[in-house]
Amino acid sequence: MDTEAPIKEVIEEIKESGGDAVKFCYQCGKCDTVCPWNKVRTFSMRKLIREATFGLTEIEHEEIWRCTTCGKCAQICPRDVQQIQNMVALRRMATGYGVFPAAIKPVRAASAGLTSDGNPFGEERTKRAEWAKGHSVQTFEEGMEILYFPGCYPSYDARLKKVAVATAKILNKAGVEFGILGAGENCCGESIRKTGNEELFKQLARENIKTFIDNGVKRILVSSPHCYHTFRNEYPEFNVHFEIVHISQYLFELINEGRLQISKEYAKKITYHDPCYLGRHNGIYDEPREVLKKIPGLELIEMPESRENSFCCGMGGGRIWAETPMFERFANLRLEQAIGVGAEELVTACPYCITNFEDSRVVLNYDDVIQVKDITEILQEVI
Ligand code: SF4
Ligand code: SF4
Repeated sequence: MDTEAPIKEVIEEIKESGGDAVKFCYQCGKCDTVCPWNKVRTFSMRKLIREATFGLTEIEHEEIWRCTTCGKCAQICPRDVQQIQNMVALRRMATGYGVFPAAIKPVRAASAGLTSDGNPFGEERTKRAEWAKGHSVQTFEEGMEILYFPGCYPSYDARLKKVAVATAKILNKAGVEFGILGAGENCCGESIRKTGNEELFKQLARENIKTFIDNGVKRILVSSPHCYHTFRNEYPEFNVHFEIVHISQYLFELINEGRLQISKEYAKKITYHDPCYLGRHNGIYDEPREVLKKIPGLELIEMPESRENSFCCGMGGGRIWAETPMFERFANLRLEQAIGVGAEELVTACPYCITNFEDSRVVLNYDDVIQVKDITEILQEVI
């Protein structure tokens, strides 16, 4: 029988990343009971942690790439094992060696686009502000109230551009003096960091930080919870502190200050999906719900898996660029859950979630069964 030899580098890499906490795992298995993967296939974070403890991780295997970093296991782990940080540490090793299993190979194309043009699509940097043409959007100048940072998907993706446009319409209606950076904006770098490409994350972050400082930016409004998370919780690693506001918080603020008036009804049954990086990672559960509750005629129905127990869409942790077989997509199940509570619309506040839900809607042939909307797309209709 072959004897499995530990890879010392795995143990060292995990230690260096602050992931020494793997040794605290006492194999209770609670992580596996809450992990969304186990609703579509077998996956064991408990086993991965055990293997990592002994340096026996197979870094060439797809298993280390599965975690969507949804945070569900981290909030239940009795030993604070920091599963996400450990998986990212392993991915750093795999990325360092250039070892990508077939389903993860698209990450390389995303990295190339981010390196050359600051976006994962490899689209020209100069086209970043094309969505804003004809919508009274100015270039940011020092002294403006807030910088609007739409992020990559609302800047380039045809479906998500509608979210950027809806946001601009709302800001203009509320009389907010805002601007964008256009070609000066880079991807925030959150997802590429989760794939283990620390160097590229740092490059993107440093360029963004320099642009923010050069332009006198103090307050930043974001559409994506992923931009929110990395600007608020990770950019301070570079000794900078900007005030970050997610659009769901800003809508709440504008309505409460009387700057945004809701003047129309929206007579639909909707359910709200908590994005992992807005909810579990940053504790923003109430503001989007409070905004929706202010709309006359709108009936807000909760899904059983909501707030802290929200069901991940499957796109976090860099999996937005991974290939996931149709029958393994979490978003399919989430659409079924929304339909199950009688919702006509599944509303959320994250470009990744919308991308995934729209894909599932097409795949499941649910065009006439349920609509998928960003919170801004509803607000723009009622103001
Ligand atoms: S929940 Fe925590 S302690 Fe329990 S098996 Fe998972 S990582 Fe280990
Ligand atoms: S963070 Fe989410 S996807 Fe990753 S192992 Fe934990 S529960 Fe599963």
